[in-house]
Amino acid sequence: MPEVSCHCGQAKLTAPRPPAEVVECNCSICRRLGARWAHYQQSEITLPKPGTTQPYVWGDRMLAFHRCRSCGCVTHWQSLSGAQQRMAVNARLIDGLDWDHIRIRQFDGASTWTFQDDET
Ligand SMILES: [Zn+2]
Repeated sequence: MPEVSCHCGQAKLTAPRPPAEVVECNCSICRRLGARWAHYQQSEITLPKPGTTQPYVWGDRMLAFHRCRSCGCVTHWQSLSGAQQRMAVNARLIDGLDWDHIRIRQFDGASTWTFQDDET
């Protein structure tokens, strides 16, 4: 099972399987973080030990972006709404992924809120 680990190793999550695709988003926070988000149901993910990450919440307060309190790596985001059980981990923090076989999708979170490569 893939481990999502910050640089210092204090903040670790476990995902049930490697991502088949990840999302790069151009919204104001994601482009700054440079994260590649792999989405899962929250129930599938083992979260970091409490207190190892610090949440960052902004704007309409729908999401909390978590970073390691020690080394600062952004590990994941979680919904604050309660209804939304989807979450995402930063796939850049998973060692040994075969990036040649993972689809990298471009999401226009800055304006149209659609995938730029949408085929559906
Ligand atoms: Zn760390």
